[in-house]
Amino acid sequence: MRLTRKIVLATLNRHKFDEFTAILSAYPEYELLPAAPLLRNADKLKHVENHDNYLANALSKARHVNWATHYPSLADDSGLEVEALGGKPGVRSQRFAAPVEGLTQDQANTAYLLSQLKKASSRAARFVCTLAFIVEGIELHSTGILEGTLISEPRGSQGFGYDPIFVPKDSNRTLAEMTDQEKNAISHRAQALHRLVEQIKNHGIVLAKP
Ligand code: IMP
Repeated sequence: MRLTRKIVLATLNRHKFDEFTAILSAYPEYELLPAAPLLRNADKLKHVENHDNYLANALSKARHVNWATHYPSLADDSGLEVEALGGKPGVRSQRFAAPVEGLTQDQANTAYLLSQLKKASSRAARFVCTLAFIVEGIELHSTGILEGTLISEPRGSQGFGYDPIFVPKDSNRTLAEMTDQEKNAISHRAQALHRLVEQIKNHGIVLAKP
């Protein structure tokens, strides 16, 4: 067994890495490493994420990184599910809109989503995050959900993706108007990660002796 506190996070998204690192700081027994510097061809990670559900995508990224690095590996797949669109964009959230010149992909996605909702009777939506964790052939997974509503004009500059139009239940601010700590206290990603750590501990998995 490789005795290490290190877990490799199978994502190329810097925002996600920062969010996971902040959430995992509640558990000093683990340390997160970015995948890119450990992979010969980091771009390949984008191409294993081609399934139609969160769990299959998360498992396939975690397996890829675990095989390639031999470190315990963690992967997520997440998305925004909009009630008025029958759950879309869901697993396709990252590339929902076609690229638009002068806009980032996140801005294009948000603008496109708002255009689809002009006549919608419901503004309800939820973020979903599924995590997969692999160590020495053991595969664990967990899911977290954050319910909320979508506003019609983006507000705030924190976070990423659809954060500027998403107001979580029991709040009057968008995720992009919250500090990192505030978002990480409620987010779908944090909920999934806390559940996963609980499972890791319940399985008696110890990565390294203190
Ligand atoms: P993936 O999990 O890397 O496939 O990306 C999921 C996409 O869902 C992101 O690119 C964002 O567009 C969106 N998304 C997932 N989580 C969040 C979040 O916490 N805030 C805003 N958008 C998110």
